[in-house]
Amino acid sequence: MKICRYNEGRIGLVEGDIVHDVTSVAGQLPALRWPVEPGDQFIEHLEALKPAILAAKAGSATARLADVTLLSPVATPAKIIAAPLNYHAHVDESLVDAQIHNNVHVAHYEGFASPVAKFGVFLKSAQSLVGAGEGVRIAFPGRRNDHEVELAVVIGKRGKDIAAADAFSYVAGYSIGLDMTVRGTEDRSYRKSADTYSVLGPYLVTADEIADPGALAFSIHVNDEPRQNANTRDLITGIAELIEIASRVYTLYPGDILMTGTPEGVNTVQPGDIMHARIEGIGEMRVAVRG
Ligand code: MN
Repeated sequence: MKICRYNEGRIGLVEGDIVHDVTSVAGQLPALRWPVEPGDQFIEHLEALKPAILAAKAGSATARLADVTLLSPVATPAKIIAAPLNYHAHVDESLVDAQIHNNVHVAHYEGFASPVAKFGVFLKSAQSLVGAGEGVRIAFPGRRNDHEVELAVVIGKRGKDIAAADAFSYVAGYSIGLDMTVRGTEDRSYRKSADTYSVLGPYLVTADEIADPGALAFSIHVNDEPRQNANTRDLITGIAELIEIASRVYTLYPGDILMTGTPEGVNTVQPGDIMHARIEGIGEMRVAVRG
């Protein structure tokens, strides 16, 4: 099942290039009372709502996917967790490109089993999140603002100290993630958390539709110029291990987003550019950059 959010916050069931308006299912969510548990209530209940979503499709209003404004498929994540330096070829480019490492974020990890073993994972502001239709607004004009295309994993249920062997039972689904980044000396949380610097889309593909998230080809073009082209089989620290590592320190909540790391080919974007990202088995999205 492919679920999008669009226009003024409607819920859509995506089939091919058609969006069925199934917003009415939100009426089945339990009423919330303060204090509210962290996380996204719709993602928490998504599995239980699937029959209602299919029922709501009958007689629903439809629109063409290309004609709607896509919002983030997760409305209110508690957090966005991200892995640094998780493809060898990106580690290599980060070592040689002074604009990436700035003599501060140097990618050496001698003595550690992996970059994630040395650097851990990091958090991006949950409020940096937008959908494909909202686009990225450059927050650091005149500096190198890069695209990082990544497989994004959406957590479906609360968990702590999750073993890698159990990790996929905590996954609601997958989307394309853009971990937008300004290069510089500042901490990652500052450079990667500006408003609109996390893009999730075009929709959520539920986990049952992705047989092996560890073998997905993906790419990004900017104005039709190829920039990044890789496969998730080359992740250094895989999805299950990332969930284990993250949940050792953070309680995971429904709707938490895990950006799994970007491959080689990161490069700058400018206002007016159009980013075109694709992941096999998920789909594709066009994201405009504005000043
Ligand atoms: Mn990244």
